[in-house]
Amino acid sequence: MGCLFCNIIQGKTPSIKVYENDAVYAFEDINPQAPVHVLVVHKTHTRTIEYLNDSNSRIMSDIFLAVKEIARLKAIDGKGYRIIINNGPAAGQVIWHMHVHILGGKDNLGPMLAQY
Ligand code: AMP
Ligand code: ZN
Repeated sequence: MGCLFCNIIQGKTPSIKVYENDAVYAFEDINPQAPVHVLVVHKTHTRTIEYLNDSNSRIMSDIFLAVKEIARLKAIDGKGYRIIINNGPAAGQVIWHMHVHILGGKDNLGPMLAQY
């Protein structure tokens, strides 16, 4: 079965690119939950955090260095922003290519979770 985010990385599915380097691709979320809502994916397909190991852990540093750059590009680094990884079914992961959500562009993003 194909992976939507691999297709986006390869340009087979359209997206609004925010940032790209050799390792990662970042694009606007199609259903934004904040004034700034960017998704950051690694070009290496990794399903969830459970698939990280000593050999591929570079994936996370690549992603987080890109997060820092994207926050600067979107001018949200000063105020701050939230990073979310929905990892697995309980978190509501629907696209099974690990990705980081960057949410920002507001003075206060509200509580971490809607309810507890
Ligand atoms: P999740 O797997 O729960 O972290 O959520 C997947 C995210 O991908 C959601 O925020 C969707 O709005 C977003 N999404 C789904 N399809 C696309 C697409 N074609 N382009 C951009 N974002 C998408
Ligand atoms: Zn993929």
